[in-house]
Amino acid sequence: MPTVTELAALWARSLEEIRDTLNDQRIFDSFLVDTSIDSIEGKNMKVLANTSLAAQILNSRYKQLITEAVARSTGTVFEIEFIDQPTRSKVEETPVEEAIFFKDNKLDGKYRFDNFVVGKSNREAYQASLMIAGAPGQLYNPLLVYGNSGLGKTHLLHALGNDAKSRFPRLNVLYISASDFVEEYVKFATGYRSEQSLVGFFKENVDVLLVDDIQYLVGKRGTMETFFTVFESLYTKGKQIVMTSDQHPNNLDGLDERLRTRFNQGLSLSMSAPDEMTSEQILKSKIKSSGNEQLTFDDDVIAFLAEKFSNNVRELEGALNRLFFYTINIRPSNHVTLEIATEALASLMSDRSIKTALSERKIIAMVAEYYSLSPSELLGKSRTGQVAMARHIAMYLCKEMMDMPYAKIGSVFGGKDHTTVMNGVRKVEKEVDENPGMKRAIDDLKARIKK
Ligand code: ADP
Ligand code: MG
Repeated sequence: MPTVTELAALWARSLEEIRDTLNDQRIFDSFLVDTSIDSIEGKNMKVLANTSLAAQILNSRYKQLITEAVARSTGTVFEIEFIDQPTRSKVEETPVEEAIFFKDNKLDGKYRFDNFVVGKSNREAYQASLMIAGAPGQLYNPLLVYGNSGLGKTHLLHALGNDAKSRFPRLNVLYISASDFVEEYVKFATGYRSEQSLVGFFKENVDVLLVDDIQYLVGKRGTMETFFTVFESLYTKGKQIVMTSDQHPNNLDGLDERLRTRFNQGLSLSMSAPDEMTSEQILKSKIKSSGNEQLTFDDDVIAFLAEKFSNNVRELEGALNRLFFYTINIRPSNHVTLEIATEALASLMSDRSIKTALSERKIIAMVAEYYSLSPSELLGKSRTGQVAMARHIAMYLCKEMMDMPYAKIGSVFGGKDHTTVMNGVRKVEKEVDENPGMKRAIDDLKARIKK
């Protein structure tokens, strides 16, 4: 069946021929304006007349002339019939429109494998996605990636889709959020569309189905049932299904049992929060791709961001963007120091966490400066008298001023154990009691740190 536009073009050409042949402008105007081809099936052409009388008259008196004119303009001798009602009912017409489910759903090209930083927390999920992109439907089906919000699940899902699409351009890859599915379901549940057509859409148009955030299906009975039908029909045809969830399916209360079983029959992998090293790499990668190359950062700024925002990559990115904004618009500067960073990010952190971050780093910075050392020397392993003493003083101040547990202090100072820290702190306490010079130095340092 030709498209609507093709039919219109064909009829427009035919009408010119008909007008010339008919050679009676009044008849032409009154009987043939607003006519159109209703359908062509084989050699049968139905033409929609403008009134039922016109249909009768055209059929009885002009059919021969029109058939010949149309044959001249199209090269085909059609069996023409004029009708006064479209042959297809409204209901039958809808499938044309129904093919356009999820028409706004596109893979997002900014989420790719090449800008996804891989670390311990996401390595498995990354590996499985990479494999699937290279052989959709052949390895793990379905793949389910679960983990807290902001850890890169959506990024990975698009990356998989983009990669599969670039390897196999003719593959139909559809990315939807489960909430998009709920929306489409609601449309047909309210009678606007038929269920068949939604299921049919997936059957006909999808080779790789990427469903983000399946937790949104939970508790929605009708939607879950339809999703199950879609899942089954794709699965049995060997189509690839990849899903994400904020939790393992077993922990999704209210998930349809049949769906739970299906979700568990493939491969489920968890994603967790990145460690600080991975976070630092993510930051560096985001800085590189942000177009802010003019900005340089003190090393401890990156470490500070990574430490404070590692449990959520979205927040980590947010913090970095806030920092960009701040150093471009509020306090213009090409070099970002820890001081600028804490100032910029104050609003994003709880008071307590700023204070801790600030003081423990400030203590280290101040003590180092006081003894003309670098912070890394202070945190390092050197045991020479001067450095070791300064290090003990910094530990002592962390205990005194912030009441930090020994173990925590130990981890700040490069993984020293509880007893080592305690001994160091005791040594300084003793010195402070017995040595007025030491007491003065400590008071002095405290004053500087509090400033
Ligand atoms: P989720 O879907 O798990 O809530 P997203 O995929 O939306 O998380 O990730 C949030 C943001 O963090 C996105 O901008 C994403 O690009 C970024 N992101 C997450 N993990 C990584 C990573 N490993 N490498 C680079 N960017 C990441
Ligand atoms: Mg997401």
